[in-house]
Amino acid sequence: MPVDPAKLDIVFYPDPVLRRTAQEIESISEEVCAVAERMIALMHAVRGVGLAAPQVGLPWRLFVANPSLEEGEDRVFINPVLREFSEVVESAEEGCLSLPEVRGEILRPVSVTIEAKGLDEEIFSMTSDALPARVWQHETDHLNGVLIIDKMSPMDKLASRRKLKNLESQFAG
Ligand code: ZN
Repeated sequence: MPVDPAKLDIVFYPDPVLRRTAQEIESISEEVCAVAERMIALMHAVRGVGLAAPQVGLPWRLFVANPSLEEGEDRVFINPVLREFSEVVESAEEGCLSLPEVRGEILRPVSVTIEAKGLDEEIFSMTSDALPARVWQHETDHLNGVLIIDKMSPMDKLASRRKLKNLESQFAG
């Protein structure tokens, strides 16, 4: 079924697409390029630093990110694989565009290497021990159906309970 990129919008918890394991992209078609472009526009519109395809309703292994929020720093990651996680972990507050107003401390390895394909079909590899490392891990979690509410402390989850309930009733209604 062809996708109309102009119709894509951010989907919210508890949309079941957020829980699916996304599938590898086999060929980087014009459709994939147009979807990536649309996702970058959506990410900027809400001043996000990353957006994964399941968050626009597509169970594809693709995310876009721009941790610096700077012009020209947008990057598309297709079929990303994370490796070389540091043993050192760090906790930091995270939010998610699919979980408005929900925030929590998430423990993650400080440094990681990512390998992915770009829209030009070239495989690239990057290593970070700063915010990009956290963004890549958050977005790759989305491709595996994992959300921050799965990783936050019981305290943070309890603090978000009302917001989650509201999202659940909005989705059902
Ligand atoms: Zn997210």
